[in-house]
Amino acid sequence: MIIDLRSDTVTRPTPEMRQAMYDAEVGDDVYGEDPTVRELEEKAAEILGKEAALFVTSGTQGNQTAVLTHCRPGDEMILEGESHIFLYEGGAAAALAGVQTRTIPGQNGIMDPSDVRKAIRGRDIHYPRTALIALENTHNKAGGRVIPLENMQAIQQVAREHGVPIHLDGARLFNAAVAAGVSPAAFAACVDSVQVCLSKGLSAPAGSILAGSAAFIEEARVWRKRLGGGLRQAGVLAAPGLIALTRMVERLHEDHDNALLLARLLNDIPGLSVDVEGVETNIVLCDISGTGLSNEAFIARMKVAGVLAGPFDDGIIRFVTHREITTSMIREAADRISGLLAV
Ligand SMILES: *Cc1c(COP(=O)(O)O)cnc(C)c1O
Repeated sequence: MIIDLRSDTVTRPTPEMRQAMYDAEVGDDVYGEDPTVRELEEKAAEILGKEAALFVTSGTQGNQTAVLTHCRPGDEMILEGESHIFLYEGGAAAALAGVQTRTIPGQNGIMDPSDVRKAIRGRDIHYPRTALIALENTHNKAGGRVIPLENMQAIQQVAREHGVPIHLDGARLFNAAVAAGVSPAAFAACVDSVQVCLSKGLSAPAGSILAGSAAFIEEARVWRKRLGGGLRQAGVLAAPGLIALTRMVERLHEDHDNALLLARLLNDIPGLSVDVEGVETNIVLCDISGTGLSNEAFIARMKVAGVLAGPFDDGIIRFVTHREITTSMIREAADRISGLLAV
């Protein structure tokens, strides 16, 4: 048995999702005629406490549609130095929106509101316009850390004083909500636009949601079309998305419990080290430098033992728990890793 801990994106649609895809009522969504897409967008807006929502093909498309809608070429965006939009979206903000990034180093993904304040540009002929602040919750590179509601509120205060909108990359916002005991709408209330992934821990086969004001979503719909994201009978994808939003959130705590168990078990293996306290959701960052193995060698050995995980940083391997990983698989994975290091 292969234990795949590379990402929560490997989750396949549930049998219930497959049936919903089969049964979905559909129409041409570019004409606004797909009832299932409409239902998903309305439900998502309601859950996120926003006026409107848009079904997009991926998290990257949702984030970049937001950047394009908020900004003009030559504008500047403030974001955390290890954020997904900065590190992992192929430079899309520059390539597509012509936006310059201004990164701020965070603590576990958390930016100090006073650093954000200092980075906002005044009016000067030499300066770009600060057009957007982007936040990420949970923060992937920080190991699935939750950005506290109070921090988001403080940044919202700064943004309001300067009239700068905020976008939230909430690819795993539901994990943050479950871990913090805060509603997704409360987090989303701190920002002008929010992107959430349906295809990660929530197990839908594809798609993300971008939500915001009605005027923002109207404009975003134009950008989505320009980006090639206008889909036709997309109800077949919206149907599992609806199940993701309404029925898959309540089980996310299982992934968090499994991540914590994995963190403890790995941390007990000689040569491995995990900041167990820092495991708040479904991501475990494991420091393997004590084994003397390179990331490549470690990953190759795990693969032979049937455990898959991804390289993250020098000497750091990322494990992600998800719906298709049980507690006994976590114990089995830790046993196999312990075994391969004992050789
Ligand atoms: C996965 C992810 C994205 C992008 O989602 P895709 O659907 O892979 O394009 C954006 N932000 C964060 C934090 C992510 O983890």
